[in-house]
Amino acid sequence: MNVYQKLVIVKDVKSERMSQYILTLIPSKAYDARYGSSVCGRFIIRSDKGGFSGVAVYSCVYSAYTARVDTYKDGVKREGVFLLNHTDRSVSDTKADYARSLVSSLQILRGRRPLSRGEYDGDYYVDYTYDDTYDEIYDGGWFDEIVVTPDPIWDGVGADGMTNDEWMSSTTPDSTVDPSPEDGTSNETDDVTTSDNGGNQEQSGEPDVQFSGFNASELQKVKSAITSLQQRFPNLNLNGLRIQKGKWNGNGGISKDGTILLKNGYFNLPLALDRTCVLWHEIYHLQNGHNAGGESHSIPRYDPKVVPEEIELRIKNEVKDDFNITDDNSKELELYYRDRIAVISVISSEYYENELETYEKEKELFPDGSISEDYKNNRDYNVWMYEQKLIAARNNNY
Ligand SMILES: [Zn+2]
Repeated sequence: MNVYQKLVIVKDVKSERMSQYILTLIPSKAYDARYGSSVCGRFIIRSDKGGFSGVAVYSCVYSAYTARVDTYKDGVKREGVFLLNHTDRSVSDTKADYARSLVSSLQILRGRRPLSRGEYDGDYYVDYTYDDTYDEIYDGGWFDEIVVTPDPIWDGVGADGMTNDEWMSSTTPDSTVDPSPEDGTSNETDDVTTSDNGGNQEQSGEPDVQFSGFNASELQKVKSAITSLQQRFPNLNLNGLRIQKGKWNGNGGISKDGTILLKNGYFNLPLALDRTCVLWHEIYHLQNGHNAGGESHSIPRYDPKVVPEEIELRIKNEVKDDFNITDDNSKELELYYRDRIAVISVISSEYYENELETYEKEKELFPDGSISEDYKNNRDYNVWMYEQKLIAARNNNY
């Protein structure tokens, strides 16, 4: 019996809570024989779970607690239980028993020999009462291979201006988000439930662009941005672009293999032209060889000398919201605000030069008045922030 594992990060869209889990997939023999090492990828990328049959177990990364157990048949979830509660980490006996029954094949690990149906293995009686269709899964056997398939490493900076490190430090995984909530619960995930690309038929005159990971309405938005680019910039070469739904917050980014990532923020931009503009931005990076991402370096704290009034106001408002501060003159507010604008890590001068160049061109082609107020403010902030980072990077010879 083969077991496949992957680290997954899930997010509750409403509460913005993040959690990370180790996802262990135990496919049925037939499914494993067919898809083997692509089991994890199929399960995560496809909305139909790649037709997965077997057991999915989510475990907390640090505590190794089992957080959720689900059983699947042909991509459809049959049963499942979430063992962690938002308020109370202790697990009820009933839930624990239920989970144990779902994951009964895992218990075979403790056995000394392969089991046949309904046999005692000393400590555990393996019971198959809940669904006969699962016989093929719980046929006993050994865990003879663990295949770990981590996500490809991506260390660029998104259009939100954050590197992976910065993004991680701005979010707090807390292991309470249900990675696979039942219908009707509040908890939506944007990682393990990505959708397929909802019918991307070719039309004549459409450039040759590959799309992946978008649902139907997202795909429509991306395609109309492509059309808009085609109309605005007939000389822009769009052929061969690969565009994929990116994870997490932010608008856009580019993966190491040159795929454009459009993230959740992209689809929340108020205007269609904002989306055209962000897509143009990423294409500009790509076509001008701006792939110089690279690691971020810690530096001695650099405090920006000049902060435009709008940016100061914007950041102070964020701080007030985040820390429930009401007094505009509080020392706390000033302190948190100073911390927030301080630069404590940089990538490289070249990196920020590329960003500033791209934004400068972007502003010529998509001037302030043409894009939404939201996106304009975001752009102003990013430009200012990259200017500060460039100063700090140069100061430190990066
Ligand atoms: Zn950029």
